[in-house]
Amino acid sequence: AMVTRFAPSPTGYMHIGGLYAALISSKFSSQTNGIFYLRIEDTDKKRELLDGVEEIISALREYDIHFAEGPFEGGEKLYGPYKQSERKEIYQICVKELIKKGMAYPCFCTTEMLEETRKIQQERKEDIGYYGKYAVCSRLSLEEIQSYIEEGKEYVIRLKSPGNPLSRIKYEDEVRGIIEMPENIQDIVLLKTDGIPTYHFAHVVDDHFMRTTLIIRGDEWLASYPLHKQLFEVCGFQAPNYLHIAPIMKMDQGSKRKLSKRKDPEAAVSYYKKQGIPKEAVKEYLMTITNSNYEEWREKNPQKNLQEFQLTTAKMSNSGALFDMEKLMNISRNIIASKTVEECYDEIVQWSQLWDNQIYQKAVLSKNNFIKTIELWKFSGGKVRKDIGKWSELSEQYSYLYCDFLTNNCVYEFDAAWKADDILQVLGEYKTDLFLEGTASEWFAKIKDKADLLGYCTKLKEYKENPNLYCGSITDFCNIIRVAVTGKRNSPDLFSILQILGEEEARKRLEKAIC
Ligand code: GLU
Repeated sequence: AMVTRFAPSPTGYMHIGGLYAALISSKFSSQTNGIFYLRIEDTDKKRELLDGVEEIISALREYDIHFAEGPFEGGEKLYGPYKQSERKEIYQICVKELIKKGMAYPCFCTTEMLEETRKIQQERKEDIGYYGKYAVCSRLSLEEIQSYIEEGKEYVIRLKSPGNPLSRIKYEDEVRGIIEMPENIQDIVLLKTDGIPTYHFAHVVDDHFMRTTLIIRGDEWLASYPLHKQLFEVCGFQAPNYLHIAPIMKMDQGSKRKLSKRKDPEAAVSYYKKQGIPKEAVKEYLMTITNSNYEEWREKNPQKNLQEFQLTTAKMSNSGALFDMEKLMNISRNIIASKTVEECYDEIVQWSQLWDNQIYQKAVLSKNNFIKTIELWKFSGGKVRKDIGKWSELSEQYSYLYCDFLTNNCVYEFDAAWKADDILQVLGEYKTDLFLEGTASEWFAKIKDKADLLGYCTKLKEYKENPNLYCGSITDFCNIIRVAVTGKRNSPDLFSILQILGEEEARKRLEKAIC
């Protein structure tokens, strides 16, 4: 059984890479009947967001990622507290132990002094940090330390690193295999002047006492591994296993870069919610980038819940996957197509209540009619259509059904071959009677009569001989009406659209197109 955790800092909105990491961590624990817990790394109070923690928990819940333990009701178990800001005493106790063992010491160097040292090191091309002759405070006597403290000088606590500059360590990553790296030699800071731990120290203390067995984290921490391994040893703890995951990348002007919170809206988990991309689609897409054999599994098991897939480190890529929005949309279109009309209705209501008031009003004011609009874009000629991949596309692709057509400035896609007179004539004629009471075939029979009356006819040939007459067909006749009521030349079944709109609305639209 694996104990894994998600350890976010509540300093910004939830990144899609965070969701990806949480998904992987939760799967490794669930498929081994282990524990997955949440630890909030809130040591940077200045950068913390007011509702940062709630946002993280609710974002993950929405994606069905649940924690067995964490800082929420029912989640506080034996191994807490689950917020680092509430674990100060634990770090203090550990630091005291290290000081007793001679493995840590107070350092009174001011920022100015450290800056000075850094400059000297740069000039001498000796970038070794707080080490050797530069680690001045490591040589202070007990008396000196005592008197500085009495004077009220501020201090940090540093590790007394036992590292050797000539040694290298071997590290076995769950994904990357064996990596050799130089040992840590720097006397890094464990506790800052305010007693708050650095990430490094908190990671080691917390993951030990909170009994994590597999650390899953971003590969920006890979370089810190030698330090972490050393800290585990110095503290006398057994080190857990590590899996460093590559970040999600994006193509930008021909080169790969990390998906960035600052530049890319799709980096935020909230983006998917706002766009109305179903959560199953986002999760399914993320699964395709976790393991290279996932899609093969999915093809063989189209009905299975992704929970049943066995994630393995062996099939994980160690270079960042490229984020592929088109692929996500394809997955999403398939998922929406597989939902029932009622399921779509419920999801659209939920989504539109937050993000699109026009659609929301339409959906709740007349459920029956709204259900018909869903049937219209979901099915045609007995087949399931796949043109909606996110709910925001309803107002983009089907604006004539979901937005206020009469008050919007509509661009009519009338065919250039249609003369203005022809358009007026067709619309004027159709307006006199819309024939919406009967069946589709009755309607079409009536339309044919009208078309014939105006000289529109299915036999194009006769008209070709007389260029003064409009060379139109019954399709043109219908399409003129179609463009008048939808604005578009491409749309699903015209009769269904007219019925959904209803006599009154349809007539108003015809009139609008005529002026
Ligand atoms: N709070 C750290 C971060 O946000 C966690 C890294 C880890 O999982 O250890 O990057």
